[in-house]
Amino acid sequence: DELIINSELHQYKIMIGNRIRYDINTLLPKTYSTILVITDDKVAEKYLSEVMSNLQAENIFTSIIPAGEQSKSFALFEKLHTEALTYGLDRESLIIALGGGVVGDLAGFVAATYMRGIDYIQMPTTILAHDSSVGGKVAINHQLGKNLIGSFYPPKAVLYDIDTLSTLPRSQVRSGYAELIKEGLIADEELFQSILSSDLMSLSQDQLHNHIRSGIKIKAAIVEADEKEKGMRKYLNLGHTLGHALETTLGYGVLTHGEAIGIGLLFSMYVSESVYTIKLPYEPLYRWLLNNNYPLFLEQLHVNDLITLMKTDKKTLNHHIQMVLLKNVGEPVIKEISDEDMSSYLK
Ligand code: NAD
Ligand code: ZN
Repeated sequence: DELIINSELHQYKIMIGNRIRYDINTLLPKTYSTILVITDDKVAEKYLSEVMSNLQAENIFTSIIPAGEQSKSFALFEKLHTEALTYGLDRESLIIALGGGVVGDLAGFVAATYMRGIDYIQMPTTILAHDSSVGGKVAINHQLGKNLIGSFYPPKAVLYDIDTLSTLPRSQVRSGYAELIKEGLIADEELFQSILSSDLMSLSQDQLHNHIRSGIKIKAAIVEADEKEKGMRKYLNLGHTLGHALETTLGYGVLTHGEAIGIGLLFSMYVSESVYTIKLPYEPLYRWLLNNNYPLFLEQLHVNDLITLMKTDKKTLNHHIQMVLLKNVGEPVIKEISDEDMSSYLK
């Protein structure tokens, strides 16, 4: 299964398939004499040796980072550059990002900056990474906020072996599925309905493949139309205004990213229903999230803290919160919400 993305810089292929990690050598866009595989320790344990034994190049090196969001740091960014320099990577070398969004964002940003930019490919191993591996946004975190230091730098290819998703912990399956639901709500009602009629505990390979493919198609269409996030790409932030604030206020690791987004999606539907006096599928989404064990009951949230956090969002304009709302499933809009209104919605 193949999709093509037309980025401003170059065109690249997204290959989705079962067990395609074993074919990696033939799927590379060209031959490279030096390759650096960057992965995290959890993914390394499961998949690194298989990838290594199927890669062919004169020099193949690996760098293994600790799993988790803390790795999107200046410290590891520098360490990976040091390793790349020590291994002798040059402008013709390749970096392979094997892992979830953390590895993809960090390794991609290293590729974007190493000797002013070298080739890299994404090998996503989480469901959420269907989103992060497509579109070319790469970044690390700053103490003052997530993803603030980065670049737009698309990969040369995305190789998505969906067989690797079978070892994901449940919370990571929930995390990725919240983003798929988001994409359905933005642009594909059929995807939304298909997810709502499936059970995350008993997903078939076909369901997973179809959902991921549909999600990537939506993400791809949006980034092709608006690579640098001047307009439409902002719709991908549906559910993220509250979601990000929840992640920050609760502390990273309490909820997975997508679990926070699940709550954010419900909230954006609730606000949309109030603002436009319409009826959206809030209730079915609520039931589905509950049935699939998304954490929906949080304690000790403070409305004013949440509003302050919502304003640190990159979409904020002149200190007013800009939220993505829905006029209907498949019809997103950006709306400014006053602090007073936000406060009453949150309550
Ligand atoms: P992640 O990379 O931290 O992976 C989640 C956990 O699953 C990690 O512990 C990882 O080791 C483990 N894991 C990965 N693959 C596995 C597998 N196949 N089997 C078992 N365990 C596995 O997190 P994520 O949710 O994939 O990505 C989140 C990151 O993505 C965030 O930093 C976020 O900012 C970023 N992101 C970027 C974009 C973008 O456009 N660049 C979009 C969305 C999210
Ligand atoms: Zn997200």
